[in-house]
Amino acid sequence: MAKKQFKAESKRLLDLMINSIYTNKEIFLREIISNASDASDKLHYLALTDEAARSKMGELKIKISVDKENRTLTVADNGIGMTKEELENNLGTICKSGSLQFKENMSEDEEKDAVNIIGQFGVGFYSAFMVSDTLTVKTLSYKDTQGYCWTSNGADGYSISECDKQSVGTEIIMHLKDDTDEIKYSDFLAEYRIKSLVKTYSDYIRYPIIMDVEKTKDEGEGENKTTVTYIETETLNSMVPVWKKSKAEQTEEELNRFYKDTFFDFEDPLMTVSIDAEGVVSYKALLYVPAKTPYDYYTKEYEKGLKLYSGGVMIMEKCSDLIPEHFRFVKGVVESDDLSLNISREMLQQDAGLKTIAKNIDKKIHSELKKALNNDREKYEKFWSAFGIQLKYGAVAQYGIYKDALKDLLLFHSGNTGKLITIEEYLKAMPEEQKHIYYACGETVQKINSLPQAELVRAKGYDMLCLTDEVDEFLMNVLREENGKDYCSINSDKADLLDENEEKKAEETAEENKELLTFVKEALGIADVIISKKLKTHPVCLSAKGGITLEMEKYFASLPGEDKEKVKAERVLELNADHNAFTSLSEAFKTDKEKAKTMAEVLYASALLIAGMPIDDPSDYAQKICSLF
Ligand code: ADP
Repeated sequence: MAKKQFKAESKRLLDLMINSIYTNKEIFLREIISNASDASDKLHYLALTDEAARSKMGELKIKISVDKENRTLTVADNGIGMTKEELENNLGTICKSGSLQFKENMSEDEEKDAVNIIGQFGVGFYSAFMVSDTLTVKTLSYKDTQGYCWTSNGADGYSISECDKQSVGTEIIMHLKDDTDEIKYSDFLAEYRIKSLVKTYSDYIRYPIIMDVEKTKDEGEGENKTTVTYIETETLNSMVPVWKKSKAEQTEEELNRFYKDTFFDFEDPLMTVSIDAEGVVSYKALLYVPAKTPYDYYTKEYEKGLKLYSGGVMIMEKCSDLIPEHFRFVKGVVESDDLSLNISREMLQQDAGLKTIAKNIDKKIHSELKKALNNDREKYEKFWSAFGIQLKYGAVAQYGIYKDALKDLLLFHSGNTGKLITIEEYLKAMPEEQKHIYYACGETVQKINSLPQAELVRAKGYDMLCLTDEVDEFLMNVLREENGKDYCSINSDKADLLDENEEKKAEETAEENKELLTFVKEALGIADVIISKKLKTHPVCLSAKGGITLEMEKYFASLPGEDKEKVKAERVLELNADHNAFTSLSEAFKTDKEKAKTMAEVLYASALLIAGMPIDDPSDYAQKICSLF
């Protein structure tokens, strides 16, 4: 019988798994049990509608057995089983789980991070190789009459053969590695160790995890007293899923452990929300906000959704209708007995009960986040750094239908303090005469603060929201206004930072210099050149006319595709009439047009650079500056 090789990528990951210092080898048992439980869930679910499955389903349980002589530990389930093809597909490659697509692009150096990645994706079955040198899987699918045996020692691939298995389900037989000085693999054959591992990691598994344990008892009286040993089957887990316990019974440790085990995270969740709702629809839910952005969060591999149980049966692994898009980072479990089970999964999406639950969950997450924002800012900022951008996209999505629901959760950097503030906090700190909510876009808060236009805003005693994410400007367009105060870019003509006199003076200066401004505009071939009302000590700045801002142009330029050149802002060069540069320019305009043109070009290029826009020809720019010395 020829051995088949694991797919190349799988092999690399497998090596990494087997040899890594993967901190807790003991988690293999949890992984194997969790697969057994999933397989039982699947059969249980099918049995609701499929006669063939129903007829094959016995009392679902998971049995652990130990053979000390042969050094094997076996986990057997009577779940769904696997056909030959499924064996091949499921155990011949690890790619499915998504961990590999990620792994392929990794350098050797990054492999040390692999431990974390493995954890996040849950390598599952393969973790058994951390403690075993040979794995044997005997299985019979509920669809089959012939059983199959899969065996592998990891490195050399695997082989599949027919075997005699009468009952539906799967047995995973792990032949433990030889003990070393550091690790006594044979420990995993000890009853106390297995019991404690099950209790620690798999207590909430909803099927009994049973094991035959040797017991002793005394028989007879006095001199006839003898001690006899006998075998008793013990159930090792309490089988009460943590979400089904009352809040008083749920310990933080247990909640965290359940999160880490179920959703493959090494870190405790940042927030845990436990819901026990009674009403038109009764349900229990456990919701978690991870402490960090998951590795795959921004890939298409990431699927939002909550595990959905009804009547003790897992209906769906990831029910996406339970979680709105803007909270897609939330992980968790929902159980409700009020959902009609006999309908298809597609129909379930239309279910009124499900919709009610989803609505409540949305509200609950919102209120919990709000609570953290108000009472534990440090925690909220941690959340914000992991998922804040998701909320911004959520507020912008579908032309802002969720903006009112989400805006009280948004944070922005304050230009004045550099700290994160809410819109409400910005509004509260506004001087009475301030007409707009000012914002400015840029790469970093520091760069934004050093924009020429920022100076006047600061001088007025106004704060501004410093926007550093691409989505921010779209967000401002969607938010529009708060209590009659609009969101206004410090770049905008509406910025109103001058008082009446200053305003008048600027207009007079513009009138007086009309010819000069036209000359510069024509020399540069841009949309407009104006006397600025936004500058204090800086000579120039750049702004835009019309609907497309400089930030939008930058954003579109960063996208791939051919159309990006088409989105251009109409550029406006703004000159500070109180600056020496302007005086020199207007003198040159009277005496030496060529020089005035060079000056105009230098000023424009400088304005582009300050705005973070590229200039066409840097060496030409340098030449021109030097020619003015
Ligand atoms: P995961 O469980 O994350 O999908 P695993 O590597 O643990 O990844 O398992 C791969 C696949 O093998 C599972 O998705 C499942 O289809 C199948 N499998 C594993 N163990 C069993 C089992 N005890 N019974 C039936 N199928 C199983």
